[in-house]
Amino acid sequence: MGVWIDGTELPSRGDVIRDALVGAGVDVVAPRPYTHRDLERVHAPDFVAFLATIWDRWVEAGFPEDPGARRVVPYAYPLAKMTSGRPHRSPESLSALVGTFAMDTMTTLGPGSWDAIEAAAHCALTAADLVSEGEPVCYAAVRPPGHHAGRDFYGGSCYLNNAAIAAQRLLDSGAASVAVIDIDAHHGNGTQEIFYRRSDVRYASVHVDPAQGWFPHFVGFADETGADGGVGANLNLPISPGTADQGWLDAVERACAFAAGADSVVVSLGVDAAADDPESPLLVTVDGYRRAGQIVRGTAGSIVAVQEGGYHLDTLGELVLGFLHGLGG
Ligand SMILES: [Zn+2]
Repeated sequence: MGVWIDGTELPSRGDVIRDALVGAGVDVVAPRPYTHRDLERVHAPDFVAFLATIWDRWVEAGFPEDPGARRVVPYAYPLAKMTSGRPHRSPESLSALVGTFAMDTMTTLGPGSWDAIEAAAHCALTAADLVSEGEPVCYAAVRPPGHHAGRDFYGGSCYLNNAAIAAQRLLDSGAASVAVIDIDAHHGNGTQEIFYRRSDVRYASVHVDPAQGWFPHFVGFADETGADGGVGANLNLPISPGTADQGWLDAVERACAFAAGADSVVVSLGVDAAADDPESPLLVTVDGYRRAGQIVRGTAGSIVAVQEGGYHLDTLGELVLGFLHGLGG
């Protein structure tokens, strides 16, 4: 509509989390450098190239001068039903091209976006490598989050799927099987889609019921259990708005039971299920997150936690630390 409103996925989230970690005496290390090829183990090469270059192309084409276009936003979407399911062509128009990769209009790109997106993915890769090298637990303190991003689409404040990149990295480093446990308040539709036809990465998600009006609206239902070789490797545990610690932890236990036996576990650590969070109607406490960390700790010998959502800046740090204290003992 051309009306800009404040977002909640803000750079200050990263500062808050880092300050909390430093204050707690956590051993903080910087991410290592990686290449596009490392990202392309999960994402389509043309999608990675799009994210890396679209802002410069947007500026070059003069779009920021147009009404409502001072950031990269899609103009039209090629719905599969427009082409009877045939692949759509790549459009000449830059604003139409954006609609071939974007799943919503709220996830914009601007100056500095790619630097943050790429750094977050490199941080997740570093965490996976540290665990492969022998660290039992590693946490990737990243933003933007990633679990709504698929192989070649972005949305829900996510661009590259940091948790999926970490899971694939663990496999590539020798793990025979990996499980992703997603405790963000929202269903990780991107992670589900990336691994939906595979059995080497199981995916279990605890999230607010999309049938009751919550993002990502179209997916995240209990009857989505995987396809082809991945049948039975996907578990969705939708819970009702208003669910507090006990109901949420019961679902976390079920997700962990589903993940048991995996060589390594990746946790999509969204803390937006917290009671004060502006983005979800769940009522989980700091103690609930601490107990979730304790439950997850028993599922595998090596664990990579990757930050997803969590938008209440006043409590964000203690929620993350609560989970990590439970995870690390
Ligand atoms: Zn979320």
